[in-house]
Amino acid sequence: MKIIKEEHFCLDTDNFPLDKYFQTGGGLGERLLIVGESPAENGWRKSGKAFYSPEGKLLATGKRLNELLSMYDLDVSKCGFTELSKCFIGNNRKILGDCCKKCWPIFEKQVNRGDFHIIITLGVIPAQIIGDILGDVVEMGVLKKVEIGGRQIMLLPIYHPSPASPFGREKNRKIFEKYTKDIKSLILG
Ligand SMILES: [Zn+2]
Repeated sequence: MKIIKEEHFCLDTDNFPLDKYFQTGGGLGERLLIVGESPAENGWRKSGKAFYSPEGKLLATGKRLNELLSMYDLDVSKCGFTELSKCFIGNNRKILGDCCKKCWPIFEKQVNRGDFHIIITLGVIPAQIIGDILGDVVEMGVLKKVEIGGRQIMLLPIYHPSPASPFGREKNRKIFEKYTKDIKSLILG
């Protein structure tokens, strides 16, 4: 198996530049913050642009996400976006939860950088971690109000849109259908 060098920011969260791995949304996407697990190998850690490869190609995960966002006339380039873990963990998935938890202070500061009304997290792990940190029940596909970084915000955990997650696409479509009205009013409000 190919060994990929990890890159950790979780040991010095005070000095992490808040612009890094943080995309502000524009227009309709201004109030929506999408939160991934950790930077992908070939995504914005190399290209500087979330969901895009260094060759300027939209990654498969971004395409899947755009399928969902298109019902709000949005796409990933127009929404706020960040990762719960700022660390690049390569294939070492077992440390993901730990890096997410240690990077939480950075995430709180980033949440406060915009006027976000809704956070959509991608994947089971971010939902679990946020539940652990907040000491609250955070269920997949259930919209609920939480407090992050001292502000009240609606949280909607969806499944990871990666094509590697076989059931995610259909489940996410149903979640977006169920909450169409809510998401629209949060984005517009
Ligand atoms: Zn780390």
